Amino acid sequence: MSVHGSVHGVVLAVHGGAGSVPRGSVGQERERAYHDGLTEALRAGYRVLTEDGSSLDAVETAVRVLEDDPSFNAGRGAVLNADAAHELDASIMNGRDLRSGAVLGVRHTRNPVSLARLVMDRSDHVMLAGAGADAFATRNGMPHTAQDYFFTQRRWDDLMDAKRPGAASREGGGTVGAVAVDRAGDLAAATSTGGMTNMLGGRVGDSAIAGAGTYADNRTVAVSCTGAGEGFVRAVAAYDICALMAYTGAPVRRAAAVVINEKIPALGAAGGVIALDPRGELATPHSTAGLVNGYVTRDGRVVVRVYDDETPTA
Ligand code: ASP
Repeated sequence: MSVHGSVHGVVLAVHGGAGSVPRGSVGQERERAYHDGLTEALRAGYRVLTEDGSSLDAVETAVRVLEDDPSFNAGRGAVLNADAAHELDASIMNGRDLRSGAVLGVRHTRNPVSLARLVMDRSDHVMLAGAGADAFATRNGMPHTAQDYFFTQRRWDDLMDAKRPGAASREGGGTVGAVAVDRAGDLAAATSTGGMTNMLGGRVGDSAIAGAGTYADNRTVAVSCTGAGEGFVRAVAAYDICALMAYTGAPVRRAAAVVINEKIPALGAAGGVIALDPRGELATPHSTAGLVNGYVTRDGRVVVRVYDDETPTA
């Protein structure tokens, strides 16, 4: 278990999933891929913010970059479920007015986070699932994407490993998320995932659920979670961080640590979170061995932390 402090002056943070990433456990190539992916996502999102874009645009942009990157378990590179299919979940939330959009178990939409945004902006609903969500995407001009697009050999091998008799149940790892604050002081959060390797068809985790895996409220915090989703749903984890701050006045680092290092483990689950308050304080606690994450400060300094022992420098 690891409890980080927090860093200050942050305008955008991203994560690439909770999981065990002890130094030396992934090859240099994979390590570089994580690093480059997070850096590109941070730069793209930061550009949006410096061009006076909203935090909502920034988190959508950053998550899209990670969805397009096959290193992560979201969009292209998503894990396979027990039927060897990709089913993708994503959600986005606007801290200014608590509007939110989400998609659950989509199979043919290249960028689920942008579809979640469309649900928020162009429908009367908060969540759309499965075929209805994919149909909503095509009706709104998003191309139909074949399942093959999401496929990677690595995730196939993970599925085969998971199906081996006696295999330990495998976690997803590589889920992505972003939190941001813009010049107007508005917060936003987004999360996107392929779920967990070998999960039952139709299973949905926290990443698609406002309050569980994603939450943003200008008065307190923007949150994106990653880890064993069932625990995060039962704990209403993202909203609990927000509620602790609102009701007790706890600073973000304390509220996030209570939920991630005490409440989630008490449910037998593990994971991590990126949580950003309106003043730019970022907390990244996790109860897994690692949380691949990075952030960019107001003045454009990019910091990426693939390993747990890369302590904050800000
Ligand atoms: N939370 C995700 C899910 O349960 C998985 C992950 O973050 O690794 O679908």
